[in-house]
Amino acid sequence: MNVAEIITDKRDGKALDPERIAALIAAYAKDEVPDYQMSAFAMAVYFQGMELEETVALTRAMLDSGDKMTWSNNRTRVDKHSTGGVGDKVSLPLAPLLAAAEVDVPMISGRGLGLTGGTLDKLESIKGYRCEMTADEFRYVVNGHGCAIVSASENLAIADKKLYALRDVTGTIPSIPLITASILSKKLAAGLDALVLDVKWGSGAFMKTLDEARKLARSLVNVANQFGVKTTALITDMNQPLGRMVGNANEVNESIEVLQGKGPEDLLELTMALGSEVLVSAGTFSDAKAARAKLELLLDDGTAMRKFESMIDAQNGNLSTKRPLGGERQVVASESGFVNRINSDRIGLALVEMGGGRKAMGDQIDHSVGIEMLVRIGDKVEKGQAVAQIFCDSPAAELAQELVLAALGITPVECEAPQLIVEAVR
Ligand code: URA
Repeated sequence: MNVAEIITDKRDGKALDPERIAALIAAYAKDEVPDYQMSAFAMAVYFQGMELEETVALTRAMLDSGDKMTWSNNRTRVDKHSTGGVGDKVSLPLAPLLAAAEVDVPMISGRGLGLTGGTLDKLESIKGYRCEMTADEFRYVVNGHGCAIVSASENLAIADKKLYALRDVTGTIPSIPLITASILSKKLAAGLDALVLDVKWGSGAFMKTLDEARKLARSLVNVANQFGVKTTALITDMNQPLGRMVGNANEVNESIEVLQGKGPEDLLELTMALGSEVLVSAGTFSDAKAARAKLELLLDDGTAMRKFESMIDAQNGNLSTKRPLGGERQVVASESGFVNRINSDRIGLALVEMGGGRKAMGDQIDHSVGIEMLVRIGDKVEKGQAVAQIFCDSPAAELAQELVLAALGITPVECEAPQLIVEAVR
């Protein structure tokens, strides 16, 4: 293999044979290709893109660079992946809800970095919760309880770990083929039958425009389907936080509300939509209406909540121990009118400033800090009305108050709420 030639071919816009991509990634995973050459390759892909066949080869090579889960039963296995958003806690109620519908959910999740939170950080606000498990322990929990939410082991998609860190410092994160291979190499390692993707667009999302979100969704769906995993995507709004709560412990509490049939409407709606979408892909139900009716029943009769409790217990978590929240202070509207903007990225930043998110990998998370949004886009507000609450005991609460207030736009003219689920990509 001539790495320099692969780089120049990609730089000049040529499509690479799958064999060359496989050889490059395998060698990189074994430290046989230096980071400077891999950076040049990533930059060439960033500018020239990749064809479907190349992205499939890249995904396969990254998947093959690490361990894959194997299962000894024929149960249907499904999962959901979100491209990340502020207040996005859907995985917490969705995994047990799907397990209640008698499919297995081996969910390998991530930690938060920057403005969007991580599922594992949220779960770790539950006392004792263990997200680092061996493959055997992971299998044991999924087989016994129908779902588990764990972190990726050191040996999963090794090439992605190295390449992601490199992309992070070489300006090559926002490349659709590189994002596609990165996300799917980790998700496909769980051995799934069906997958649903929540591709977010807007101020608090990775993809700032609807057009970019559509391209990413199409790429993810096309590539995952080539691996025999029935995959669809929903493109959803992230121009305001999802649900009311943004944080860690408070997001767990809100997820429990959903499982008790009480959570905020948008969060409940998205959980149901993603759940029914993946159950139809998996062939468990023939149509979304029937799947949804079943999911509603499983929420109403408490089956989903019991699944959540048993999963948490199996992962050593203690739900009955109180999850403390910081002291409350209000953010009040500075004028009367209608809310026409809630910059989710500013809200995410306010959380990071209070220590509820990370500025750098390895930063400790303060699970007790958080924000509760009391208004949504389209709501009428009066000057002096509380629009948000901050939970925080440190002086950073003041900065968070300012950031949350600045995130809100208020106009005299009535405005419409954005559409939560824009479209499906199948
Ligand atoms: N998430 C990932 O796992 N990889 C990317 O490249 C972007 C988001």
